[in-house]
Amino acid sequence: MVHYIPTDPFSARLTDTPSGEYVLAVDIGGTAMRAGVVDSGGWSLARARIATHADRGLIDTAARLESLLRQVASEAGERAFTAIGISTAGPVDPATGTYRHPPNLPGWHDLSMVPALSSAFGLPVVVGHDATLAALAETRFGARRGARDLVYVTLSTGIGAGIVAGGRPVTGSTGGAGEAGHLIVHPGGRSCGAGCRGCLEGEASGTAIAAAVRAAIAAGRASTLGAEADAAAVFAAATEGDALAIEVVEGAIEAIATGLAGLLALLDPEAIILGGGLTNGLEPWWEALLDRTRDIALPRYAGDLPVERTTLGDDASLLGASLIAFEAVAG
Ligand SMILES: [Zn+2]
Repeated sequence: MVHYIPTDPFSARLTDTPSGEYVLAVDIGGTAMRAGVVDSGGWSLARARIATHADRGLIDTAARLESLLRQVASEAGERAFTAIGISTAGPVDPATGTYRHPPNLPGWHDLSMVPALSSAFGLPVVVGHDATLAALAETRFGARRGARDLVYVTLSTGIGAGIVAGGRPVTGSTGGAGEAGHLIVHPGGRSCGAGCRGCLEGEASGTAIAAAVRAAIAAGRASTLGAEADAAAVFAAATEGDALAIEVVEGAIEAIATGLAGLLALLDPEAIILGGGLTNGLEPWWEALLDRTRDIALPRYAGDLPVERTTLGDDASLLGASLIAFEAVAG
């Protein structure tokens, strides 16, 4: 089923009127994928979203994505497009769009949807890692537009980061840079899906928060929560005073603050921007998170801590996909 997203403009469009030049932009996540018709100033003529169903395989997903793109293109009035930009969960090789054991896109290893989409539309197709593209979009459209050194951290089912350094996205030698979720923040702590112990993702992702509650309940801890509680339910229970939920949320905050302090020390960014569903869930603890980060980070951050929430909502990665599409045709 296709969910059309209201065609309200993106929150931070740069021009008063659309430029008239459009690309097709795509954002592929483990749960849902979004497609849009976007101009160079951040105007969107049409956007829609469908379930990814990654387990049906990349070929099936690419076919459904092609049909979604044709629908948004038609919705936008069948304009001429110059390129397709794809933002995707990774790891992915940005040069070829080939996936490298993506944990949230099972079965997609060693495959790319670039050839199928390129031949279906007769357009160049460019690919980037979703968090990297979100960071790029923040430097162009976000509250820190113009920033040359910026980190975007997505706190969600998993945790990842995108890095822009000296005005350029940092991809690493194989496209694997930005795996901030696997920074060790609690040696010997809980395992993530990738198998490291005590990493940020193992300690503070949505998956980890739900798993921590499940393990405590299995061990006999009393809680208003059931064993099936997800991270959103844990946040809600914590605001209502559930002792176990509070303990788990505080543990996640400790891990996130530790990770942020490490990123600040390593990269000296103008800002770290937080996005993703968990960032919304942490809203009641936002000041506590900043305070704890100030405690842990280098003394220079005790006063002015450049950690902020995204102003681009769910659109940062899709906007980033449009940016690389425009860059591809600009040469
Ligand atoms: Zn890990």
